[in-house]
Amino acid sequence: MNKKKDKTKGAGTRLPVSKTKKSRLPKAYKKRQRSASIFFLLMTVLSLLAVVIIGVFSISQHIQTSHAYKEAVSHDLTERGQRLQQQVLKEPPDYFGGSYSAYLRYLAQENKVAIHIIDENGQLLFPRENNFDPNAPEMEEYYDFSKPLAKIKDKLSSEDNFAVYEYIGNYVYAAEIQLYGTTTAYLSIEKSLDVLSTATRRVIIRTVTIAAVVLIVTLAVSAALSAWLIKPIDQMKKKAQKLAEGDFSVDFHGADYGKEMVELADALNFARDELSKTDAMQKDLIANVSHDFKTPLTMIKAYASMIMEISGEVPEKRNKHAQVIVDEADRLTSLVNDVLDLSKIQSGIRALQFKTVDVSAYLEELVSRFDYLSGYHFVLDIEEGLTTQADEVAIGQALYNLIGNAVNYTGEDNTVYVRLKQDSASTFRFEVKDTGKGIKPEEKEKIWQRYYRSSEAHKRPVQGTGLGLSIVQSILQKHGFTFGVESEEGKGSTFYVVFPLTNA
Ligand code: ADP
Repeated sequence: MNKKKDKTKGAGTRLPVSKTKKSRLPKAYKKRQRSASIFFLLMTVLSLLAVVIIGVFSISQHIQTSHAYKEAVSHDLTERGQRLQQQVLKEPPDYFGGSYSAYLRYLAQENKVAIHIIDENGQLLFPRENNFDPNAPEMEEYYDFSKPLAKIKDKLSSEDNFAVYEYIGNYVYAAEIQLYGTTTAYLSIEKSLDVLSTATRRVIIRTVTIAAVVLIVTLAVSAALSAWLIKPIDQMKKKAQKLAEGDFSVDFHGADYGKEMVELADALNFARDELSKTDAMQKDLIANVSHDFKTPLTMIKAYASMIMEISGEVPEKRNKHAQVIVDEADRLTSLVNDVLDLSKIQSGIRALQFKTVDVSAYLEELVSRFDYLSGYHFVLDIEEGLTTQADEVAIGQALYNLIGNAVNYTGEDNTVYVRLKQDSASTFRFEVKDTGKGIKPEEKEKIWQRYYRSSEAHKRPVQGTGLGLSIVQSILQKHGFTFGVESEEGKGSTFYVVFPLTNA
């Protein structure tokens, strides 16, 4: 007897167990939830990126501007310096009242530069203050030009007549001159680079302003972007939680949010389908196993009671009843073994161990296991020495099940044909043929399903649990071997397996 009515269940059903758990996540997951949000990550990355870009851009702009500015100043100072050098060596015009210092101050003001004439010892010669008092101590430092002079001398030693260079925030034009035609002195014309520092300050202020605006924009963009990104993720999270609770009706959508989201949704939908299948299979298994266990257990209980109450004293009857108990216990054992085998193979707990198997020799040994059945004929046509790479125990179980079925379903002549022949350069074929009533075309697919049995009333000489072909299918699929059934109603069936041929 078999129950198949739960088969279609699965999608759209809920697991009762997890209902009580609601959407509470286990602690291990909660710990991971402490990581930063997408908004925060996006904002940080975008802000950093913006700051770096603005920084690099501003620095490069500043370098370029100051370079261009300095070049212009240097060029201008060279021309101006040479012109002024000639002018300072001239006699001051009359209207300066003979004051050379006044003349120099005039020239400086006209050209927006500072002009100093320094003697060999680093003392300022011109322009002098009206109230200049060389003995005033606080003034000494101010008029001490020994350091600039050292620089001038240094520069002039490498560049001949004059030198133009940068010195403590100024651009300096320096030249050696002969005052009054004889006294060696040094002319220093300085132009301040203040304008540049003002420009730098402006660049900094502009940079900071742009950075602030960009940061605000970044904040807004990150907020919008993360809201857009989080929306489908949040929806998927809620649906995944529902799925975890056993609701297989959830549908994941990723459209409108990019290819990756669509792929993620597809993967989740696939996971849902697989989960719902496993769930359906589990329910199916439990329902069928409990049903199939119940029948032999009821029988065992009934016959044990009968022995106790009725047949205990009558040896003949008692033995008959005890035999039923033994048979039913055997049926239970096969059922348990089959269910376990199938689950182990399908769940991957029992991994296949490939080695070279001599199928010819193995097949003869398998057929001999049926020797205990009296009245059955096995017609063997087995070619010697056909070997393949396979898991010996698993393949043995598959072939044994197929031969067992042929024995169960063969016709009145009780004959089973077993054949093993090389059928191409690289393959050999196993066939087991019976003379039974065959399999209807519409059943050819279904017989491989778990617990599928077409004729419930069929009397089987070999224990059958309805799992035999399902186990055969799992094993052969895991091996990647071709297999199937050819059957003509009323004439019998031929189950076949094609093995790849390997050299021993
Ligand atoms: P069981 O034999 O225990 O019923 P199986 O999974 O081995 O379970 O087979 C499933 C069903 O396939 C059988 O119930 C039977 O209807 C059909 N079947 C299997 N082998 C044959 C065969 N050689 N001839 C006819 N029908 C078969």
